[in-house]
Amino acid sequence: MTRLLFFAIVLLGTPSLLAAQDNEAFQRRLEASRKTEVWEPVPPVVTPGLWTLPPSDAIVLFDGSGLDQWESVDGGPAPWQVTEGVLVVKAGTGDIQTRMAFGDVQLHIEWKTPVDTAGREGQARGNSGVFLMGLYEVQVLDSYRNRTYSNGQAGAIYKQHIPLVNACRPPGEWQSYDIIFTAPRFGADGSVEQPAFFTVFHNGVLIHNHVEVKGPTVWIGEPKYAPHPDKLPLRLQDHGNPVAYRNIWIRPLSGN
Ligand code: MG
Repeated sequence: MTRLLFFAIVLLGTPSLLAAQDNEAFQRRLEASRKTEVWEPVPPVVTPGLWTLPPSDAIVLFDGSGLDQWESVDGGPAPWQVTEGVLVVKAGTGDIQTRMAFGDVQLHIEWKTPVDTAGREGQARGNSGVFLMGLYEVQVLDSYRNRTYSNGQAGAIYKQHIPLVNACRPPGEWQSYDIIFTAPRFGADGSVEQPAFFTVFHNGVLIHNHVEVKGPTVWIGEPKYAPHPDKLPLRLQDHGNPVAYRNIWIRPLSGN
């Protein structure tokens, strides 16, 4: 009888003791795991846009209705054309830029290169550009079956980084860039504390993954940083081709 009781304790009692120990160990682990939980700040709730419509907290730079947010680079009204909700480069009138200045941003921009490609090759086919801070260019070009130097094709961080893939659509079709840009940081003495960085999606495809920018875009020679303000206007390039733009919105990031 006693022996039976003993076995009963061994068989039934021990598992519950083990379970209690397991539970205690689990509680300790749970407590340890909480040390690395970060609860503040709470990310604000943002309603994403449908398809490519801007999310609720974006600054809309162009929605088809006008060029209120834009000016020519020398300060006058933006001279490009808006036709049926589409902004088109007016060749020879020069670049345009935003009235507002930006530092770190997420930028969405849609563009379309001309269908008429007759006699146009390389850099002369559908050339424009998106210049973050007016200085750092993501190349806009018709790179659909149109060879040029790789660090100057569509999506290139011009003359600095070749896109990971060529995600170009044919001319006449709308394309998108989603750009995450981190502005450079300069010390009080003008030294570069942190270079600029780009992450870029072309038509939803990743083409740059946090690549380091060597300095402002230059056509000739090596890029070299020079100190500039924390925020500068976004600029679109007139490269002589009637490239079209639509649905441009921007989200300034991290208090900059
Ligand atoms: Mg260009």
